[in-house]
Amino acid sequence: MTRKHPPLGGPPVNPPIERASTLLLPTAADVYRSDVVTYGRHGVRVHQALKDAFCALEGGAACALAPSGLNAIATGLMAFAGAGDHVLVTDSAYAPTRRIATDTLPRFGVEAEFYDPRAGAEIADRLKPNTKAILLESPGSLTFEIQDVPAIAKAAQAKNVVTLIDNTWSAGLALKPLALGVDVALHSATKYPSGGSDVFLGAMVARSEALGVKLAAHVRNTGVAVSPDDAYLVLRSMRSLEARFQAQSTTARTLADWLAARPHVARVLHPALESHPDHALWTRDFTGAASVFGVVLKPAETAQVNAFLDALTVFGLGFSYGGFESLALHCDPQLKRDVVPWSAEGPLLRFAVGLEPLDDLIADLERGFEALS
Ligand SMILES: *Cc1c(COP(=O)(O)O)cnc(C)c1O
Repeated sequence: MTRKHPPLGGPPVNPPIERASTLLLPTAADVYRSDVVTYGRHGVRVHQALKDAFCALEGGAACALAPSGLNAIATGLMAFAGAGDHVLVTDSAYAPTRRIATDTLPRFGVEAEFYDPRAGAEIADRLKPNTKAILLESPGSLTFEIQDVPAIAKAAQAKNVVTLIDNTWSAGLALKPLALGVDVALHSATKYPSGGSDVFLGAMVARSEALGVKLAAHVRNTGVAVSPDDAYLVLRSMRSLEARFQAQSTTARTLADWLAARPHVARVLHPALESHPDHALWTRDFTGAASVFGVVLKPAETAQVNAFLDALTVFGLGFSYGGFESLALHCDPQLKRDVVPWSAEGPLLRFAVGLEPLDDLIADLERGFEALS
């Protein structure tokens, strides 16, 4: 016998997690309708709510989800380029994005070339008659070049070339690329939107319905699907996205200034610092900075860099960023550039600042510098 419980007085605040492959359609005529969701892979309510959140964040007309940020980038490029086409990828792109360009796209007959992240309007000189897409990422992963996003978007629009930007760093808060003329904003929601370092998710936000239709078609045809549990986790965290981002950014900015004054530091790559070579562009286009930045050390042996990193107890050693926890990374082993070779006074480190108290982070870095010297 089932116990009788009182009915709920109202709906929950959050959309329910519906784990569903099959959706039961009410009548035979409903089974082949195209104006309703007929299969779980195409997304249920929690996916729809998450897409709405990303559209609101970016000011987009449509959003498609992907199981990871990297998949969102691959899906975005493949939705707009096919055999015989040419795409341009910024030389400052996230390392796995580079492999989409060098290894994956050529297998499908797409020629991918890297371009100088600081190209600006001169990107027009790199466009070919068969160029279909330009991928931007600003600031660049690891090296923090700021791109002239509106100039590149304008040059692309003049030739009907689709622009896609990896907007993970800004979390969609500090940069609004669609308003600057970019067609698709790509996100690793694994980072700030999740904030928990416990889930993978990607998003593609389109400026127009027409672009959204192309993305949705590729997503549908290739079976790109996201678990409702993962969508729920990210949706839940997005409610605190802005508060976390602001808190982490503030700590990071103070740490950047502190680091810039250390004797072992040659320079700090943080676009909000006046010393950053692209500070003027950042001031023009961005309304804030994320909590991820680079530090070029004065010349030091790898053993010294490792001693610095191994002495840290608050900063973890690992990839990713945007979580609650601070991370440090030695970048040189994964730095790769085709167009403008990276050159610096010494080793390049990246810091991703989390939600820990500033004093604990400073004390940790002091331990690191002691071990380095
Ligand atoms: C982490 C990251 C990605 C990839 O995202 P995943 O969700 O880990 O697949 C793409 N671009 C940037 C800038 C990133 O930092």
